[in-house]
Amino acid sequence: MATPHPPVATPTAHVDVLVVGAGISGIGAAYHLRQHFPERSFTVLDALDGAGGTWWTHRYPGARSDSDLFTFGYSFKPWRGPSIATAQEIRSYLEEVVEENGLGEHIRHGHRVTAASWSSEDARWTVDAVRTSTGEPVRFTTDFLWMCQGYYRHDAGYVPRWPGLERFAGPVVHPQRWPEDLDCTGKRVVVIGSGATAATLIPALAETAEHVTMLQRTPTFFIARPRTHELATTLRELDVPEEWTHEIVRRAYFKQGEEVTRMSFEEPEKLRAFLLEEMRKLLPEGFDVERHFNPAYRPWQQRIAVVPEGDLFTAIRDGRASVVTDTIEEFTDDGIRTSSGHFLAADVVVTATGFDLSLFGEIAFAVDGEPVDFTERVTYRGFMVSGVPNMAYVFGYFRSSWTLRADLVSEVVCRLMVRMKERGARSVVPTLRPEDADMALLPWADPENFNAGYVLRSQHRMFRQGDREPWTHMREFHEERTTLPVADLDDGLVYR
Ligand SMILES: Cc1cc2nc3c(=O)[nH]c(=O)nc-3n(C[C@H](O)[C@H](O)[C@H](O)COP(=O)(O)OP(=O)(O)OC[C@H]3O[C@@H](n4cnc5c(N)ncnc54)[C@H](O)[C@@H]3O)c2cc1C
Repeated sequence: MATPHPPVATPTAHVDVLVVGAGISGIGAAYHLRQHFPERSFTVLDALDGAGGTWWTHRYPGARSDSDLFTFGYSFKPWRGPSIATAQEIRSYLEEVVEENGLGEHIRHGHRVTAASWSSEDARWTVDAVRTSTGEPVRFTTDFLWMCQGYYRHDAGYVPRWPGLERFAGPVVHPQRWPEDLDCTGKRVVVIGSGATAATLIPALAETAEHVTMLQRTPTFFIARPRTHELATTLRELDVPEEWTHEIVRRAYFKQGEEVTRMSFEEPEKLRAFLLEEMRKLLPEGFDVERHFNPAYRPWQQRIAVVPEGDLFTAIRDGRASVVTDTIEEFTDDGIRTSSGHFLAADVVVTATGFDLSLFGEIAFAVDGEPVDFTERVTYRGFMVSGVPNMAYVFGYFRSSWTLRADLVSEVVCRLMVRMKERGARSVVPTLRPEDADMALLPWADPENFNAGYVLRSQHRMFRQGDREPWTHMREFHEERTTLPVADLDDGLVYR
């Protein structure tokens, strides 16, 4: 857990706010800080060598968003492209935000944060980082720590252990570590996995591969969507200002998302039937939709993955890709044998098997010399943690675009900073109220509500939620867009 701070060669720098992570959340946080507190100093540290987080790390063929960019983009910067964007387009958008708002001078890449210790006496954090290029330790102090570290480990993906994997003669590649020189032209590729990443990779690889097989243990819900919203096309044809187009199309997507969420709770079987029927229309005659695309879970218990223009289904229809729903018995030197006795010959295997959930960037936290065991803590409205002073975090929506919540959290954190100033407080800490003394602590995620594999695998490491406000999280955007902006920041928080 928490390590004592090692000696550092460079002098300690102090900033008013230290942001960890320069992905879409960290850049958003920096923008809001700049807007609300132009006089305050802040620095953004990121372990990667460039900005964008997820969109910097993922460089596999076809890497793209799953959400529409009208809601995945920020509220404050209009999106000018098609709804579904490539990783490169998202990186360019983020670079523009950095450039247009003078954020570049605040961001330091190649800095991995390792430890953060709060001192109540000094009312500040001491934060240790390592320069990734040299291994040199660097130390900061800060009044407020803003964690925008995302939710998974960037340095390695999740790969289950399969018998005989080491025997396989060809490359085994995880999408998080895609080798620049890997050419799948004319090759037989097996992609293991059924999520959004597999659905993105398969049509892209199928353009040149001999054949791509999607090998999945269990199915995922997919929905085909146009790459561009027709409303955006119309508004652009009418030369409507981009700011208006952004806002109008955003609202159209909110509405659509809200309706799907409502149906998933109130009429799950109707939604299931609709999704299956839509997929059936795009698949070859006689295709076993029930077996390959009808998950056991309720729609929205995991994200419904978008297939732009139905490209995955087109690849299947054209015979360039196929789906096998089965488990892996063993690897051989030239393929995979499945439990039901099939053999899938392969030259390349792609393990699109997901992430390892990461808790606060694997940083060792301590408060007044005591290591923080997050498993005993509860969330405060999904942006702070009980007993941890002057620390906010960003965690986006599972079902709606992540950035919708990143924007809402940025606003509420800035409001919290204003409240601290109004009260003349140097610190603010979420603290259970007397009436919460016997509150039941619930898991970080309720599997009835959301049961993605990466969440269930790791939630024993995560903090918890309570059974009442303000100790809950995982609300939906249509609720939080009205509740978070007016949340009572005196309830459950102790200012000193
Ligand atoms: C391939 C892929 C596609 C996705 N598509 C969508 C989508 O379409 N819509 C959607 O809503 N969500 C999507 N997601 C989820 C996605 O991760 C988020 O939407 C969003 O990009 C997260 O942004 P973030 O800035 O919070 O975190 P990240 O993008 O994960 O960035 C976090 C940053 O923090 C840095 N960091 C972490 N720990 C430390 C540390 N200890 N020290 C220093 N730096 C640290 C990391 O290096 C990283 O740069 C997708 C995820 C993946 C993997």
